[in-house]
Amino acid sequence: MRQIALFEQGISPTPIVKMSGCYGENEYYIKREDMIPFSFGGNKARKAAVFYKEIKACGADIVMTYGSNSSNHCRIIANMAASMGIACHIISPEENRERLYNTRLVEDFGATVETCPVTEVSGTIDRRMESFRQEGRNPYFIMGGGHGNPGTRACVETYREIAAWEEEHGLHFDYIFHASGTGTTQAGLVCGKLLSDAERKESGQVVGGQKIVGISIARNEERGREVVRQSIEDYLGARYTELFREQELIFTDEYCMGGYGKYTPEIAETIEEVMKRDGIPMDTTYVGKAFHGMRGYVEAHGLQGKKILFIHTGGTPLYFDFLERQKQESV
Ligand SMILES: *Cc1c(COP(=O)(O)O)cnc(C)c1O
Repeated sequence: MRQIALFEQGISPTPIVKMSGCYGENEYYIKREDMIPFSFGGNKARKAAVFYKEIKACGADIVMTYGSNSSNHCRIIANMAASMGIACHIISPEENRERLYNTRLVEDFGATVETCPVTEVSGTIDRRMESFRQEGRNPYFIMGGGHGNPGTRACVETYREIAAWEEEHGLHFDYIFHASGTGTTQAGLVCGKLLSDAERKESGQVVGGQKIVGISIARNEERGREVVRQSIEDYLGARYTELFREQELIFTDEYCMGGYGKYTPEIAETIEEVMKRDGIPMDTTYVGKAFHGMRGYVEAHGLQGKKILFIHTGGTPLYFDFLERQKQESV
């Protein structure tokens, strides 16, 4: 099994930069998780670094995961497996077969893709794991989107980087916004905050009321919240009741525009504007949608004079799918 130097040495903190665009009377900063230097970066690269260690520790010879044709997670896992010189098997819902850049990259990395109806995914996963074992192979399974405790742990690290940056620059963010999908990123951020607040309190520091807002890109509020809460509980374990308070979990489905992958002309305009002004590519499924949602939230809640951090969670190949679509629409 080959090593990936970046994952061996650990990921350096990603940049936090001020944005030039002003949306209301607030200051905006962006954390460029998309600049993690592996396979276009993003939160899935951060999670992959944790899975990498686990795969090596158990000596797996095939990694299996699940995701759609647009999945950043599948691209990164397939890239990681290729780079490690082990096999990769992806289960994908057959309902969505449009060949996007991520779909093509997954194929180029040599992963095998098995499609099935979305309702049969979990059964297919179980059967396939079993058949790999029967063949004498040692499969490692990763949940869709890198959901689960290792993924949460990776995103706790994102929060620690933010807290260290705040300390170094003497600047406190009032709000942190990000796209919330499987909820792992949000769970990691909230756990990171709860743990670091607890540490600060122990050393006699005052902790300010920072808010982490997950903008749902697909799930409704009830289910989305519950999954994030459950992930927080799984991660904190015995410290959950001591540290967690309901008000720490802000998850809104007001900007999910009818579900996964759906977007409006206004979201497209926001993406074009951010690219022009700040040179930052965003996609329509996650980051651009959440960024646009943040603007809506800021307006709806009348936020003023706040320091706001938006986390760019990656998905750059999807930006190019967006460009292609814009091109087709303009001819
Ligand atoms: C997967 C993904 C998200 C959502 O992250 P979760 O941890 O699943 O909530 C956000 N942005 C991008 C670009 C993603 O690929």
